[in-house]
Amino acid sequence: MKSKLVPIVITSFVAGVIAAPFLWNLDATVPISSADAAQAGKPAADAQTEKGVPMISATKARERDFYVPNGEDLDPNEIRIIACGTGMPTPRPAQAAACFLMELGNGEKFIFDIGDGAGERLFALQIPTAFLDKVFIGHLHADHFGDIGSLFVSAGLAGRFTPLRIWGPSGAKPELGTKAAIEAMEKMYAWDLAGRLGQTDVRGFTTEVHEFDYKKEQIVYQENGVTIRSFPAIHSIDGSVSYSLEWNGLKIIYGSDTFPNKWFIENAKGADLAIHECFIAVPDLISKYRLTPEAALQVGTQIHTAPEAFGKVMSMVKPRHAVAYHFFKDTDTTPGVLERVRSTYDGPLSLAEDFMVWNVTKDGIRERMAVIDEHTWNPPLAYPAKPVSAADRVGYSPEIEAGRLDMSEVLKPIFEQAGEALGRKFEYPDK
Ligand SMILES: [Zn+2]
Ligand SMILES: [Zn+2]
Repeated sequence: MKSKLVPIVITSFVAGVIAAPFLWNLDATVPISSADAAQAGKPAADAQTEKGVPMISATKARERDFYVPNGEDLDPNEIRIIACGTGMPTPRPAQAAACFLMELGNGEKFIFDIGDGAGERLFALQIPTAFLDKVFIGHLHADHFGDIGSLFVSAGLAGRFTPLRIWGPSGAKPELGTKAAIEAMEKMYAWDLAGRLGQTDVRGFTTEVHEFDYKKEQIVYQENGVTIRSFPAIHSIDGSVSYSLEWNGLKIIYGSDTFPNKWFIENAKGADLAIHECFIAVPDLISKYRLTPEAALQVGTQIHTAPEAFGKVMSMVKPRHAVAYHFFKDTDTTPGVLERVRSTYDGPLSLAEDFMVWNVTKDGIRERMAVIDEHTWNPPLAYPAKPVSAADRVGYSPEIEAGRLDMSEVLKPIFEQAGEALGRKFEYPDK
């Protein structure tokens, strides 16, 4: 295969300007000045040796080309998008199923799809869960909303003390719509909630569902200068949609699953970032995803958007930057996807993977990876938890209560120690 030069877009956010596209990024080779080197301590000594003046400081911090969650301010005019799920219906450590977080410079945050495994990625970003209270579901396949329970329960326990706000499409029948799905989810967690009453602050165990007509092109959200529109998609059966988010002169499009459709082309016109599914190439669907050839052809080209079709869509839309997701991004599958996309589209492109980050402003679009601590704990609380009352506890039946061993000898001291450490009295529950 003939090798090609891959264009690199240089975007300088420090200077607030964007250089012309299709230039090589040669920044890294620019030497520091000898004055800088002299300032830097150790290199100054090196500068006097036969090595000459070092091109880089041995002690000064340097800007790194990755995103550390909460490690930098969001500019008031900027949107930061973080991929929290880019893979397939079988979530895997490298890739959860579909989920994209959009953080706006006005403080608003929006989640688009919450596929299986995506909750873990959201929590790893260490964003107070009170700020993650709005989710827009594109369709009700589990790989696009299967981790809604994570947002409902786990994020509720971790500091969202208000309802989880959910937007999603209706279905061809009421039981196929978002409202029915969320009602069923809440029922599923009946025991979970009962078991937490009187133990922790459970005010977040509520939902606010906004189900809208999947057939209409319409505004589904308009607050604080943010407009989110939904428009129909063609995927499996009736009831899939895609979304556009507009704020501050910027436009981000999120396509949940779909066969290429006219509504996406129309709504994505002028998009800064256009995110659209791009399915695994058919040969890999057969050999690696283990579908039969018939199923691979049907699913890979008719239910979803094949890479060649993704490229055609983006050639019609011509966004400032295109984002492809919904394939397992491995060294053996990625070249096939890229080659097929490039057979129909030659514009700016990201092949998404989990924790890929885009900073979007009018001046430039910057793609990086986030660096995540796998051992993150709960994000900080944005609002205080409310004290609970023991009277709200459901308690145990006499049969179960009768099995309790007396552990007061070892447990009472913990209460006393806590009292001493915190200067308060904690009653040991004598029962
Ligand atoms: Zn789907
Ligand atoms: Zn999907």
